[in-house]
Amino acid sequence: MQKNNVVTVTIEDIGVNGEGIGKVDGYTLFIKDAMIGDVIEAKVMKAKKHYGYARLQKILTSSEARVKTPACPMARKCGGCQIQEMKYSAQLAFKEGKVCGNLERIGGVPTELLDEIMEPVVGMERGETAEVAAAADTEKAGAADYQPFCYRNKAQFPIGTDKEGHVIAGFYAGRTHNIISNTDCILGVPVNKEILECILAFMEEYKILSYNEEKHTGLVRHVLIRYGFTTDEIMVCLILNGEELPYAEVLVERLRKIPGMTSITVNVNRAKTNVIMGDKIKLLWGQTFITDYIGNVKYQISPLSFYQVNPVQTKKLYELALDYADLTGEETVWDLYCGIGTISLFLAQKAKQVYGVEIVPQAIDDAKNNAKINGIKNAEFYVGKAEEVLPDYYKEYAKTHNGEKAHADVIVVDPPRKGCEESLLQTIVDMQPERVVYVSCDSATLARDVKFLREKGYELAKVRAVDQFPHTVHVETAVLLQRKNM
Ligand code: SAH
Repeated sequence: MQKNNVVTVTIEDIGVNGEGIGKVDGYTLFIKDAMIGDVIEAKVMKAKKHYGYARLQKILTSSEARVKTPACPMARKCGGCQIQEMKYSAQLAFKEGKVCGNLERIGGVPTELLDEIMEPVVGMERGETAEVAAAADTEKAGAADYQPFCYRNKAQFPIGTDKEGHVIAGFYAGRTHNIISNTDCILGVPVNKEILECILAFMEEYKILSYNEEKHTGLVRHVLIRYGFTTDEIMVCLILNGEELPYAEVLVERLRKIPGMTSITVNVNRAKTNVIMGDKIKLLWGQTFITDYIGNVKYQISPLSFYQVNPVQTKKLYELALDYADLTGEETVWDLYCGIGTISLFLAQKAKQVYGVEIVPQAIDDAKNNAKINGIKNAEFYVGKAEEVLPDYYKEYAKTHNGEKAHADVIVVDPPRKGCEESLLQTIVDMQPERVVYVSCDSATLARDVKFLREKGYELAKVRAVDQFPHTVHVETAVLLQRKNM
């Protein structure tokens, strides 16, 4: 196979990044935007010895899983969605299969066990994104298929300037920092468009420059918008390569007219970095945070807080974690990687005592504040690395309790993509909790850690994937591991 060859391929598999995989005379090709069941014409872009990458040129026979027309015209160009052209039912099946496959291959979990314990993937249901979903979903996808859109409560739009010199907002094209102009991303709430257009018009009128990443010049880098799904409160934060926004009062006058506007701030980020936010927040109008609820727990969210982006599915994920934790009110529970205490506060309502551990100090400040505004008194939070805080606690406990071992009834972990360090998993095992609930955003590292825990006396009792991010290849998973009686 050589570069620029044009070939006909039947797509037979899907890769971890949502790409289609097919073979031509035994040679494997990876093809973005192609899906299982498609027969396509593709052009080879890069040819290695045993496999290559090709570009979809023409669909000869369309897969059953394909939607009639993608709801967003930018679906292929934009780096945000990877599988928007796939029917939602097929997206869900792909995600469930990915979790299952990783647990089998990487985790060494027997297929028979998985068949028995794996619960059906939790997808979004029609109407769950409230009034906002109606606009974009069904008709565009073909009447029988529900496609969930408008589920994100947070959007960060890079600001740039196009060839004609107009200020634009949009998204990065896949794997680049080229901005595709789009103020109307259908994964976000419709009001984003109104806010962005207001800001862009203001910038044009007052000649305020967009940031130029290469030259490190200009002012406005990003616009962050957050929307409280249960409160309808809106937050707008402009991220600046500078201290002040000129004519800020004019922009404020315009933005505050938008119903629900609650917080208008600027964030200062003068660093030459692709980290979006700096540390400093300045209030322009209203307050520095918005409020939202997940279930009956209230959260105050500032521009710098980490907060789950899909509140509808987050509620389901936390309820699942709570269900797996199976609390009666007597338990001591640890919530490791607790962020702003979201899961901790959910658990605290049903446990005797919860300890949260998180590496980001501001997140712990938020967690403590969130406990306070909810009147939750049985949650305590520690700043630090989970793999240091828990082992230290364990050692210290033995010292101060005549060698007695620290015990937890339930330990919940929700680590970032890299999963847990082995030293932490070992301490978890040493603390002999009855149940370990592992919430994961990367089922490959989850599987690796499940393998460790299974070898150390914990059996996998339940597995369920939850789709927090429709149209992307990402999937959350919750598993329950139960201590075997030894
Ligand atoms: N459970 C929370 C957050 C999960 S995201 C929620 O559902 O909202 C993972 C969190 O782990 C992030 O807040 C991140 O800051 C934190 N983190 C990353 N590495 C860590 C470590 N080594 N120890 C403790 N927390 C860590």
